[in-house]
Amino acid sequence: MHYAHDLDGREESSVPNPWGLLGARVISLVSQKGGVGKTTSTVNLGAAFALSGHRVLVIGADPQCGVSRSLGFAPEQLHGGLREVLLSGMPLSDVAHATSLDQLSMVVPDAWALDEERQYKDLMNRHADAFVEAVDEARAEWDTILIDCPPGFGPETRAALAASDAYLAPVQAEELCRDSLRRLLEFIAEYSTTLPSGGPLLEGLFMTMTDHRTLMSRHVAASLDTEFGTALLDHSVPRTTRLAEMALHGRPTVIYDRRSLGSRAYFDLVDELMLRWLKDSDSVARVSQKPLSPVTTDAVRPVAKAAAAAAGDSDSVFGSGGFRLDGDFDQDIDPQEEDDDMGGGLARLLRDITGGGAQPSADVVDSAPREAWASSGSDAEPDMVSLDELLDEEEGSSRERNSEGYWGLGDDDYDTIN
Ligand code: ADP
Ligand code: MG
Repeated sequence: MHYAHDLDGREESSVPNPWGLLGARVISLVSQKGGVGKTTSTVNLGAAFALSGHRVLVIGADPQCGVSRSLGFAPEQLHGGLREVLLSGMPLSDVAHATSLDQLSMVVPDAWALDEERQYKDLMNRHADAFVEAVDEARAEWDTILIDCPPGFGPETRAALAASDAYLAPVQAEELCRDSLRRLLEFIAEYSTTLPSGGPLLEGLFMTMTDHRTLMSRHVAASLDTEFGTALLDHSVPRTTRLAEMALHGRPTVIYDRRSLGSRAYFDLVDELMLRWLKDSDSVARVSQKPLSPVTTDAVRPVAKAAAAAAGDSDSVFGSGGFRLDGDFDQDIDPQEEDDDMGGGLARLLRDITGGGAQPSADVVDSAPREAWASSGSDAEPDMVSLDELLDEEEGSSRERNSEGYWGLGDDDYDTIN
């Protein structure tokens, strides 16, 4: 068992982390369906956060753990995991594994045999509180904790949500997925009412495996954009072979090929999340390390607004840091409307979440990048560049972005699709 988390001499108790918090921000990646890119996104976002200076813990809550494989661990290389935490209250730092990236640590269930997996699920079911407690304790040691959930709403997902400040939902661009999205939002809203914390906030939805060439992909992008407004992140993750290959390399794509389109998408997502948070949630950071105050009666409650209210600052702007869905929105979903293309139940639901406006927040982040992949992206990946080469290269030069919101590439690197 080893723990290579380097505190860098930081006085963890008094110096705010990159979120402006005194403890980690905990974000779960959830979806109703499998195969939408949760694991790929958790690992690459984790690495991108780490390369952006965060001390990151990635928790793979899925016993079929793609997380450890993606970070280069064979089962026999793992020594301890979530089962020990649940069984004996061991701190997460004691079962965290150092990865090839200094600032990135990983914890997985380490439950490979069938009986171990059963035991793990049973423990998550009966002792979710132990998991929540362990994550809370771990807040002192990391800046960002990402939890990769299995698909659906089983015990692991429920425990992860209970431990989280917010959740991110990847949406696979190939399908509209509106039913599964609706079920996800409904489930979390209902489940949140049972949690003392009020439950996690919706950090955002983002599209994965986008392909500018397919009509479906464009259609999904347009529909989600209209319906979800600010809840939909501006950046999306293109379908690329580099991302699909991640497990083969045993390193997150953002490490082994930092320049690939997929890598850049994850760096852009990290930037977007940080920008949204920092722009709108200053007050949250000062009010509470765990921005989950009691549930309000509003249908939607952006966290910054709530925290600002708690701080007596009624004029403070809100718009990021997440959205809260309170339960009891079933009645708002007319089955008749559900058959309408995106304009029905889901639209209504999302209008509720986003407070009615559902307008893209042009002032929060530049909206150009989403159009970028739709109009000018290409599957052609640039040559592989190792992280070391890149770090050398980037040392001297500042990060410049081109018109597509990416950096380091000229327009010639993209094929324009008309
Ligand atoms: P989940 O965790 O939601 O089940 P995964 O992250 O495991 O989804 O992704 C499912 C499959 O799709 C994996 O084989 C993965 O390599 C592949 N994949 C994920 N994201 C992308 C992407 N952007 N481009 C290409 N393949 C991807
Ligand atoms: Mg997965």
